[in-house]
Amino acid sequence: MNPSRRPLIVGNWKMHHGGPSGVELAADVARHARDVPRVDVVVAPPYTALAACAHECDGSHVEIAAQNLSPEPSGAFTGEISATMLLEAGCRWVIVGHSERRQLFGETDAIVARKVAAALKAGLLPIACVGETLEEREGGRTTAVVERQVRAFLGALAESDRDAAIAYEPVWAIGTGKTAGPAEAQEVHAAIRAWLAESSAGLAPRTRILYGGSVKPDNARALLAERDVDGALVGGASLDRVSFGSIIASAESLAAA
Ligand code: PEP
Repeated sequence: MNPSRRPLIVGNWKMHHGGPSGVELAADVARHARDVPRVDVVVAPPYTALAACAHECDGSHVEIAAQNLSPEPSGAFTGEISATMLLEAGCRWVIVGHSERRQLFGETDAIVARKVAAALKAGLLPIACVGETLEEREGGRTTAVVERQVRAFLGALAESDRDAAIAYEPVWAIGTGKTAGPAEAQEVHAAIRAWLAESSAGLAPRTRILYGGSVKPDNARALLAERDVDGALVGGASLDRVSFGSIIASAESLAAA
C-alpha cells in the first residue's frame, strides 16, 4: 500500500445474491463501511441486483460495479448490457476481462481492450483483470503473459483521464484457496506499474493495482502491506459479510498507520 493512493477493496459476488439477499448483503457492507473512511469499498452484484444494491448503498461510501459489459454502445445485441445502461443502473465501476470471462466465454485480449475503452468512453471506471494460468507460471511465462494482457488495454487507459484500476489475479489462485505470496504479488504489481509509467507519466501513480485470488481475512493484511498492492478484488470471501468486513478493516488499519 502506498499512502498516495486510497485503498480499494472490491467484492465480486459472481453469480450469487441476485435478488433480496444481495440487497441485504449490500446493506451490511454499507453499514460496515461507515467505520472505514480511508478505504474505497465497491461491491459487484449480478446484473439483476445492480439497481437495487445501488439504491441501498446510496448515501454510503460503497460504490457499485457490474461484472461485465458489452463493448457495443447500443443496438441489436440481444442479452447484452451497455456501459450507459450500467451507469443508469447506478454503477460507477465495471469488472472487465475476469479470468472466468476469458476462460469460459472466450474473451480475448482484443475484446477486453474494446470493453475497457467502451467503459471509459461512457464514464464508467474499469477494473481490468489480468493473470497467468498455472501452466504459464510453471513455464516461466508469468511476466510475458501479464505484459501482453496489460499492453492490450494500456492505450485506452492512457487516452483517458479517468481513474481505472487493474486487478492482478493469478488464475491458479482464484477460488482455489491458493494465493500468491505477498512478495510474488508485489513483483508482478511493480512490473505492471512500470508498464503504466512507460506508457504515460500520470498513469502509474494514479492507477490502483489490486490483487485477487483467494484473499481472505487471514492473508489480506500481508498482501495489502506490499508497496504496489493498492487493494483487493475479493470473490468467495466477499459473500460473507464478516470476512469481507475483516478484509476492509485490514485495509483501513494499514491506511491509518
Ligand atoms: C475473483 O473472483 O475475482 C476472485 C479473486 O475469487 P476468490 O477470491 O474466490 O479467489
